[in-house]
Amino acid sequence: MTKSIGADLHTHTNASDGLLSPGSLVKQAASSGVNGLAITDHDTMDGVDEAVKMGLEADLLVIPGVELSTEFISPVLGEQTVHVLGYFCDPKNPGLSKHMAYQRDNRVNRAQEMVYRLNQLGIAVEFDRVKELAAGATVGRPHIARAIIEAGYESDWGKVFDKWIGNDAPAYVSHRKLEAVDGVEMIRDSGGVPVIAHPYYDFHGRSLDLESMLPLAKEAGLIGLEVYYGVFSASEHRQYANVAEKYDLLATGGSDFHGDGVQEGVYIGCSLCPDENFRELCSYANAGD
Ligand code: AMP
Ligand code: ZN
Ligand code: FE
Ligand code: FE
Repeated sequence: MTKSIGADLHTHTNASDGLLSPGSLVKQAASSGVNGLAITDHDTMDGVDEAVKMGLEADLLVIPGVELSTEFISPVLGEQTVHVLGYFCDPKNPGLSKHMAYQRDNRVNRAQEMVYRLNQLGIAVEFDRVKELAAGATVGRPHIARAIIEAGYESDWGKVFDKWIGNDAPAYVSHRKLEAVDGVEMIRDSGGVPVIAHPYYDFHGRSLDLESMLPLAKEAGLIGLEVYYGVFSASEHRQYANVAEKYDLLATGGSDFHGDGVQEGVYIGCSLCPDENFRELCSYANAGD
């Protein structure tokens, strides 16, 4: 097959809040024709080994990744949630592994508190069901969303977030987050390549205040910006490609696929990191820190 379409560098498995096992995700990606894949689960790298192994079997280059939740206090826009992707990190690095374990624990308490709030609001979902849906993986709001839908309170995924569990909705509880700059540093310290994910939104309906954040993040070792993301259009991509160029950041890309039917229009490879940039990203890993 001759192909030069690019790599999908942002996907989730059932090691966090995706629907597919790492092996199934890689198989599906291989048949979709992408040139490379990264799995970037929330606060865990537990799916990486299985994914890399399946990549060898399915003849697809699979690289290890993670997605950390951080926050940036913008002098212009206030609190913003910033997701930092890390590629090629060492999952055994003490700082990173301690942080991921802490976050996974913390997320269980946070989910419990969110379920309590939902119950107060008349949504009778059970925490045990949320835990069952997560099945030992990193617990996230998508598990709570599934429980709400399953219990028949809503049918639309977006509405669940708008009305109940989105960052500005009544049942939302924050989980402790690193500062964005510390997240970038943590990825660097674990031998990884840090990239700011989806600059298009801050979970409060605004885009990230990149002009304030990027100079600081670059100083902390930021390498890339996720320009080609999700369902955004070519003209929106161009806007962020310009920002990446201005700050001399590598423009990466990915779908943020969580499973079929989770988000309309999102499928493996719907947004891609250009092959040339993917090669450059891999060269950072090969060169070490
Ligand atoms: P958490 O890390 O538990 O706060 O959950 C974050 C995840 O929830 C994101 O990665 C998305 O998959 C999903 N999510 C958050 N906000 C929304 C939203 N407004 N609409 C749809 N999905 C969302
Ligand atoms: Zn997710
Ligand atoms: Fe994200
Ligand atoms: Fe994601």
